[in-house]
Amino acid sequence: TRTRCSVLIVGAGISGITAAKELAENGAEDFVIVEAADRIGGRMRKEDFSGVTVELGAGWIAGVGGDHINPLWEMARHSNLRTCFSDYSNARYNIYDNNGNIFPAGVAAEAYDKAVESAIEKLENIEESDCNSDETPSSPKRPIDLAIDFMLHDFEMAEVEPIATYTEFGESEFLVADERGYEHLVYKMAETFLFTSHGKILDNRLKLNKAVREVQQLRNSVVVKTEDGCVYEANYVILSVSIGVLQSNLISFSPPLPSWKTEAISKIDIMVYTKIFLKFPYKFWPSDPDKEFFIYAHERRGYYTFWQHMESAYPGSNILVVTLTNEESKRVEAQADEETMREAMEVVRQMFGNEIPDATDILVPRWWSNPFQRGSYSNYPVYVNHQLLQHIKAPVGRVFFTGEHTSDKFNGYVHGGYYSGMDTGKALVEEMRGEMARERENHHKF
Ligand code: FAD
Repeated sequence: TRTRCSVLIVGAGISGITAAKELAENGAEDFVIVEAADRIGGRMRKEDFSGVTVELGAGWIAGVGGDHINPLWEMARHSNLRTCFSDYSNARYNIYDNNGNIFPAGVAAEAYDKAVESAIEKLENIEESDCNSDETPSSPKRPIDLAIDFMLHDFEMAEVEPIATYTEFGESEFLVADERGYEHLVYKMAETFLFTSHGKILDNRLKLNKAVREVQQLRNSVVVKTEDGCVYEANYVILSVSIGVLQSNLISFSPPLPSWKTEAISKIDIMVYTKIFLKFPYKFWPSDPDKEFFIYAHERRGYYTFWQHMESAYPGSNILVVTLTNEESKRVEAQADEETMREAMEVVRQMFGNEIPDATDILVPRWWSNPFQRGSYSNYPVYVNHQLLQHIKAPVGRVFFTGEHTSDKFNGYVHGGYYSGMDTGKALVEEMRGEMARERENHHKF
């Protein structure tokens, strides 16, 4: 079957849905949204874990309390989404050694300041030499320094360089702790322009379980094929798949994407970020709010380092969360969950002693192995040039690119996805109006 429409949107995460909303609000309602998964929301995804709603993907509304209001914060307030303030700054004072002792505050503070200083120095060196040398003069060696280095580089670069999210919207972060999930905000938005009934989207312009594999540009249209053999022909395509998917060759382009585009795609890193949830029969960790985040100083960098208890979000849930990134994420995704549980328990016992009970359940998200994600979020090189930013979001013929990774200011965040969708929607409306005007003119000529 061949479906004809004016605009085909690939992907129903926040960027794709926002772009569609922008089109709908500008009278361009002849669109179809194709989504590989069986749901909308993309990387905003909740799951039930032992009776508690946990966020496998985006968990925080980052950037709250500043001069400008974060649009996601506004939406959350509008929907009465339940959120909890997160104070990461205490994490550095809750660093455990392998005897279960917490490092004295003075030692931790000193190690932290040293790490910030050397990170700034490293940044300045990169700036000066304009090359990416990994040879830091003083690479951290002690477990506590490795732990702090991990926390600094994989979580809080804001302490080292200004990040637009925090400078514009404020420095606070709020954890979403609502049974409807963070994804509820995407549903609320979709509801404003897609036909829904009893909380279900029934609009036939939304096609789930449709994985795009081919994008072929003809002179005046684009033909898109999905894995199940469906064919769509549209005047324009908006592609909102992640940078990881673009790097993976899941989708073949004909003619091939130009080299300026493929080069830009290859220059942006994809970060893998994995929150592993562990359920316990009872709580054995200190559950005060200032102990919400804690760290284990292992001799291996990033090895079950960063921990959070869920007592603030869901009191009595008896759940701990440990966050792994990049190589550790990939390693754990490839092994059985029982093995991951065994490794995690070993670390938990180093911190809290051998008498504690075994975890009764584990949840390991697999963002890297998911062919429709291939990672968690984009990570721009420390110094990006203007050209790279232009190239990553520039359309190629009738194919427009959107998604978190195309937001030069807020890439990596939910609000980055939101703004990119809005910008792309606007740009396409402009383009379509221009095309219509040109057609009208030609009509008059002949
Ligand atoms: P996506 O949500 O990925 O949407 C793209 C859609 O395209 C997906 O639904 C996908 O299934 C679909 N798709 C892919 N390939 C195809 C295909 N071939 N055919 C059809 N459909 C396809 N942000 C924050 O602000 N705060 C956080 O705390 C935070 N934490 C995060 C933690 C994790 C573990 C992860 C994974 C992300 C986190 N983020 C966070 C980032 C945030 O989730 C993303 O920036 C944002 O959701 C991206 O939206 P998007 O629309 O650009 O992409």
